[in-house]
Amino acid sequence: MSCVHQAHRPRVIAIQPIAFDKPEQILIVQNEISAFFHCPVYILPQAPMPQEFLNMSKGERYSADSLLDWMDRRRSDSISILVGLTNKDIFIRKPGIWGIGDHRFAPADGDLYAHRLRTIVLHEIGHDLGLPHCPTPHCIMHDADGRITTIDSAGTDFCARCKGKL
Ligand SMILES: [Zn+2]
Ligand SMILES: [Zn+2]
Repeated sequence: MSCVHQAHRPRVIAIQPIAFDKPEQILIVQNEISAFFHCPVYILPQAPMPQEFLNMSKGERYSADSLLDWMDRRRSDSISILVGLTNKDIFIRKPGIWGIGDHRFAPADGDLYAHRLRTIVLHEIGHDLGLPHCPTPHCIMHDADGRITTIDSAGTDFCARCKGKL
């Protein structure tokens, strides 16, 4: 699960915006991750969505597998976790790299949007650090995959048991 992490090096997380035009959201993600994991979080230069990944068979969608491979090639050895943020319609992950498309969110006001973004980012990084889903209600690792109501009712922290494994 956590095979991509270099055990003897300090943890470094980087955010790769891919055609993500909300600089304030990128800063929220950066601040939340670094505050939580006490590690440097770098914002990589904005990249355009590679158009060769476009698949129009179900509207404008991009190949998640191609995008993950592309991100994997861009991840330097010094980066332990690469977080992809995009406005396009995707939700993809594999250990060490993942991306989220914000079309997955229903419209929400700023605070709720920030809560969703923060919860999903911390949840996915929790997976990358080896945490499974957690039965404790309101724990960030409580299974929220794809269910916006669970995300909205999530607390702001990992439960004590999950925290102990981070
Ligand atoms: Zn999950
Ligand atoms: Zn937990």
